[in-house]
Amino acid sequence: MSAPRVLMEFLRLAADYLSRCGSPSARLDAELLLGHVLGMDRVSLYVNHDRPLEPAEVDAYRRVLRERCRGAPIAYITGKKEFMRVTLKVTPAVLIPRPETELLVEATIQRLRAASGPLLVTDVGTGSGAIAIGLALALPEARVLATDISPAALAVARENVTAHGLDGRVELLEGDLLAPVADAVRTGRIGPLDAVVSNPPYIPARDWESLPRSVRDYEPRLALDGGPDGLDVYRRLIPQAAPLLRPGGLLALEIGHDQEAGLRELLAQDGRWDNVQVQKDYAGHPRVVLATRKA
Ligand code: GLN
Repeated sequence: MSAPRVLMEFLRLAADYLSRCGSPSARLDAELLLGHVLGMDRVSLYVNHDRPLEPAEVDAYRRVLRERCRGAPIAYITGKKEFMRVTLKVTPAVLIPRPETELLVEATIQRLRAASGPLLVTDVGTGSGAIAIGLALALPEARVLATDISPAALAVARENVTAHGLDGRVELLEGDLLAPVADAVRTGRIGPLDAVVSNPPYIPARDWESLPRSVRDYEPRLALDGGPDGLDVYRRLIPQAAPLLRPGGLLALEIGHDQEAGLRELLAQDGRWDNVQVQKDYAGHPRVVLATRKA
């Protein structure tokens, strides 16, 4: 083929290049990255299919294609990710929000929507702020306390909370799991919680080496590593959540595809939980665990 001149020709070459690099979604990636470089959405790329590219645009496109080829996730290259129909800023300081986590947010919304009056909800390990923002936008009466142990993650979450006009309703607190809210509840400064929601790190150590390069080499280990069997964080979080939730309050957790039995066992051992329910993801794997605090 002669040298590419117009947008569609560059797109075709870029998709070939990315599929040779082993990208499973080469064409889509090529479109997203060209859209990023040109400041266009994907539809505009097709409308402008015969637009020539400036040399500076070609250079910029080459640069991001090389990054992608090395394994960088698209969301870190473009600096953004869609979640629950809004666009969130992401950087390598935060986990890239996943479609599976939308199921966790939707299941939580469904349970909490029935409640009337103000709600006090905690998102443990908020990362980009995805869960907290998804909940606050869908539940106008909710106040969300979002914790994270990583100041760098909280800085990203702060930008996202502000960008979506939620400064008054989503509070960002630095600390381990529920530690930043525990005292306030214990001393009665804030009421007991209506819900504790979390997508904690849950990758078992034995799966680490088989993670895709784009995850293992790019996303924060702190957001992924769940210890030897992947359940370390649930082991600490479940007993922390119980005394802070009101009777009947909701615990909603994302889990790894093979962790349903482990979670059921942890909840049963703890003994303070009722109505344990597990929901499956798009691939048919158990993904969301819901339980209520016993009265
Ligand atoms: N709560 C964030 C998310 O679901 C981050 C989760 C994490 O870092 N484990 O995207």
